[in-house]
Amino acid sequence: MTDTLTPVLSANWGDERAWKLSNYERRGGYQALRTALGKAPADIIGQVKNANLRGRGGAGFPAGVKWSFLPKDNPNPVYLVVNCDESEPGTCKDIPLVMASPHTLLEGVIISSYAVGCHHAFIYIRGEVLHVIRRMQQAVREAYSAGYLGKGILGTDFDLEVTVHAGAGAYICGEETALLDSLEGRRGQPRLKPPFPAVAGLYASPTVINNVETIATVPSIISNGVDWFTSMGTENSRGMTLYSLSGHVANPGQFEAPMGITLRQLLDMAGGIRHGHQLKFWTPGGSSLGILTDEHLDVPLDYDGPAKVGTGLGTKALQCFDETTSAVRACLRYVEFYKHESCGKCTPCREGSWWLVQLLARLEAGKGEPGDIDKLLDLSDNIAGRSFCALADGTATIVKSMVNYFRPEFEAGLHTPAWELFPYEKTTAW
Ligand code: NAD
Repeated sequence: MTDTLTPVLSANWGDERAWKLSNYERRGGYQALRTALGKAPADIIGQVKNANLRGRGGAGFPAGVKWSFLPKDNPNPVYLVVNCDESEPGTCKDIPLVMASPHTLLEGVIISSYAVGCHHAFIYIRGEVLHVIRRMQQAVREAYSAGYLGKGILGTDFDLEVTVHAGAGAYICGEETALLDSLEGRRGQPRLKPPFPAVAGLYASPTVINNVETIATVPSIISNGVDWFTSMGTENSRGMTLYSLSGHVANPGQFEAPMGITLRQLLDMAGGIRHGHQLKFWTPGGSSLGILTDEHLDVPLDYDGPAKVGTGLGTKALQCFDETTSAVRACLRYVEFYKHESCGKCTPCREGSWWLVQLLARLEAGKGEPGDIDKLLDLSDNIAGRSFCALADGTATIVKSMVNYFRPEFEAGLHTPAWELFPYEKTTAW
């Protein structure tokens, strides 16, 4: 693994006006697009494939492979959809990226659209973040005026329209097929896969859906080459990426680093756990993939490391909790989120998350009943893998993971309220 890195995606985040087209161009912005338009689309797909750029939205599916799943003989138009519905607990990398450098994303959208033969791309942004939607719309307007979008881009015969679409604030709409339903004007609910969107996506047409960070990484690969990208990271997880540190961290924020860095190294950059406290548990990939503890500080944060210890890299949302935190209360808060956000389509997720909240709430209050912990685990087993999308799996995983590491705290919930063992004021006092 490369130890140091000159920031790429976050290079200009310190400049308050980095989002302006003129500033982006001054730093070499849109040069990658000029290079890409001089190449055959298949060569660009080949470069992204050889770089082994893996999806930064959470699943880590190789982007170039996804692009090559588009059917060759389909008469329908091909669409590119950027998923900017970032809402996994703790995940906050795409929104700063768009705010600081919307043209990095847009340049990636244009290059990727050219590569896959798309002439109408959509950027789907979660509805609550109006400032982000406005920033992106402004960048799209600037790009149209400068000839980077529209007909005959930069004097070539490549045409591309880009639509910025605001979601309505539902976690489920970050799930790619629910996002497509929402984009088509319907209530966002997941579709059964297969068919995958690559075959039948938006308006039943072949559709590439990628996360913001994935698409924003493409221009740097075109500019600097595959060898540059693959020189960073670890064997199956190449390149650099954005890690989000939050919670009981001295200086929380976004940290760009080569894939495979460890939490110990990231905490060194972030000033460590808040003064006078110790790390108790943390999420390597948002809450959906479970927790790790201080035994796992040296796990390489790539697509293999967390998986080897029973979790996953996911969205690289590293939420850190110190010894003042009640595992039962934290678990309840997460599951309340999943219950609230369940779209209701699948019974195990809709009903199961409700029952989990009932059990966890009485354990938090010290009013648990014998058998409650087994019921939690049994319910979780009956939720995981029994719904259309991964939201239900996330609900079950966080419960099982918390009980696995902190069972005695759940057992204490049969007689003692969590707020007596872990006073809330201590968790929140800075
Ligand atoms: P997935 O593994 O089902 O799919 C990943 C991607 O690969 C999808 O785009 C899918 O269409 C494509 N794909 C997979 N197999 C394919 C095939 N055979 N043919 C064509 N395409 C194929 O994962 P998912 O359900 O899309 O995502 C789950 C992840 O989402 C979780 O790991 C979690 O970390 C993450 N997540 C992220 C957020 C966020 O805010 N960014 C929120 C919730 C969950």
